[in-house]
Amino acid sequence: EEIRVYEFAEMINKQPSEIISKLFMLGMLTTKNDFLDKDAIEILADEFGIEVETVNAQEEFDYVKAYDDDDEGELQERAPVITIMGHVDHGKTSLLDYIRSSRVVHGESGGITQHVGAYMVHKNNKNITFIDTPGHEAFTQMRARGAEVTDIVIIVVAADDGVKPQTKEAIEHAKAADVPIIIAINKMDKEAANPDMVKTQLSDLGIMPTEWGGSHEFVGVSAHTGQGIEELLEIILLQAEILELEANPTRDAKAVVIESSLEKGRGPVATIVVQNGTLRVGDTVVAGVAYGKVRALLDHAGKAITSIKPGEPGVIVGLSEVAEAGEKLVKVESDKAAREYAQKRHDYLRQKELSRSTKVTLDELSQRIAEGEIKDLPVIIKADVQGSLEAIKGSLAKLRNDETKVNVIHAGIGGVTESDVALASASENCIILGFHIRPTGTVKEKAKNLGVEIKTYNIIYDLIDDVKGVLSGMMAPII
Ligand code: GDP
Repeated sequence: EEIRVYEFAEMINKQPSEIISKLFMLGMLTTKNDFLDKDAIEILADEFGIEVETVNAQEEFDYVKAYDDDDEGELQERAPVITIMGHVDHGKTSLLDYIRSSRVVHGESGGITQHVGAYMVHKNNKNITFIDTPGHEAFTQMRARGAEVTDIVIIVVAADDGVKPQTKEAIEHAKAADVPIIIAINKMDKEAANPDMVKTQLSDLGIMPTEWGGSHEFVGVSAHTGQGIEELLEIILLQAEILELEANPTRDAKAVVIESSLEKGRGPVATIVVQNGTLRVGDTVVAGVAYGKVRALLDHAGKAITSIKPGEPGVIVGLSEVAEAGEKLVKVESDKAAREYAQKRHDYLRQKELSRSTKVTLDELSQRIAEGEIKDLPVIIKADVQGSLEAIKGSLAKLRNDETKVNVIHAGIGGVTESDVALASASENCIILGFHIRPTGTVKEKAKNLGVEIKTYNIIYDLIDDVKGVLSGMMAPII
């Protein structure tokens, strides 16, 4: 229901000024940033001869409010949630496996040792939750769905291989999400290990170790020998302390789905991480289009538990269907409410699907920039060779003025990848600019689905000219 004048204008392909003057004639004074209430929307719909169906699933879905409206006195420290990212073969999986097998108390297994997507370990009487799907694909996908579950990112760099393209990507993803980074220099057991090389390379990227006067913690580790792992866990706890992660365990649960699947004999199961409140067996919950009564809760080892606290992971049995990763899961009052929310969510997703292909185009951006809504144009640049990439970056940097600038959130050599598209989709209004490259069919398809625009060029001047055109909107008079 919460929709601003300019958003409404956009939806029905009108200028905000038309909406404002229409409302003015009806005796309502508004600006383009004001919210329209339900009545105003209905009146406008009538005036413009359009049909509106208000879908407010998103807002109602978020009815379990964020941490900040909890009473100070009810807040308690919660476990940090960690995601491990880094270049392929640098040891993400090995590190996650080592931590899991070394820290999980033996004999507590309920017979199931399969991977469920998240686990928790104990260290110094505290808990640490690890998302057990390494890599930034999952991380970005979750973020694109608005699920910011990760508190700290560990970037693994192999001591014998150094910084690689996916290391840089991982850093960009963590930075875009504004999540603190800890560097784990892995494979320290190897003859060719060269941690100083890794430190130098990362410092060049602005990630400097504290020992060199920077602000990032670096730990040398080995997923084979276990060297440095305890230190890594201690550093995680220190970082968590600095973040002052708190939640209110006394309220109704709000969680995020990490993974979900259909299990023989159990039906749909979902691995979740609780963000606030406590989730209990018997709670009625809804997660996107899936809903149901929590029949059982399991820990990562398959052992039955009765509740899950903030920051902690677990597996839910009892949902009506497989829930999408990244969906929010909340406790609701009744089965009836759960069904209703699930239905609304279904309608909302369908509507979003319909409007996706028009999420953001250069023209629209230009318009929104002209209206003063955007001051910063985020772009991802991909080019065939380093020389062109540098030339484009240089020219785009020159386009900035006091009011506006191009914000290059990622630049790289090579074709547009699915990861680029995911990153663009997670960053509002971001477009992808390609030079002398063509996206593949799969990438184009993904871009279309996520509503990301990819523009490709063969002449640098054309690229710059287009961006200049978009930016010039920023200096145009505001309606
Ligand atoms: P991922 O692709 O980042 O998940 O990397 P993996 O965990 O699959 O590891 C890639 C390869 O590096 C495997 O052959 C591992 O056995 C090896 N590896 C991982 N960690 C270490 C380590 O600390 N020391 C050594 N010597 N090898 C490692």
